[in-house]
Amino acid sequence: MQDLLSENKRAGGTGYRERRKKSRMEPCHWCRNTAPFVWQCRCGLRICQTCMDENFWGLSCNGITWVCPDCGEQNGFGNH
Ligand SMILES: [Zn+2]
Ligand SMILES: [Zn+2]
Repeated sequence: MQDLLSENKRAGGTGYRERRKKSRMEPCHWCRNTAPFVWQCRCGLRICQTCMDENFWGLSCNGITWVCPDCGEQNGFGNH
């Protein structure tokens, strides 16, 4: 409890609003919607989680990597 309180106090101080580069909203390549999280190929193509779910079995043959429909590059899940 005391630890939590002191953490909150510190968070309320200066600099609790960190600007993270990764938190930018990026439009999905397919549905053009912005999403808080997108899968990104090294070629720059972005796929939101919704499109990834809908096309999962077309994009991924093993559940470990997904193939970019644009450049054909294999991208791993989780190494963003
Ligand atoms: Zn999408
Ligand atoms: Zn690509």
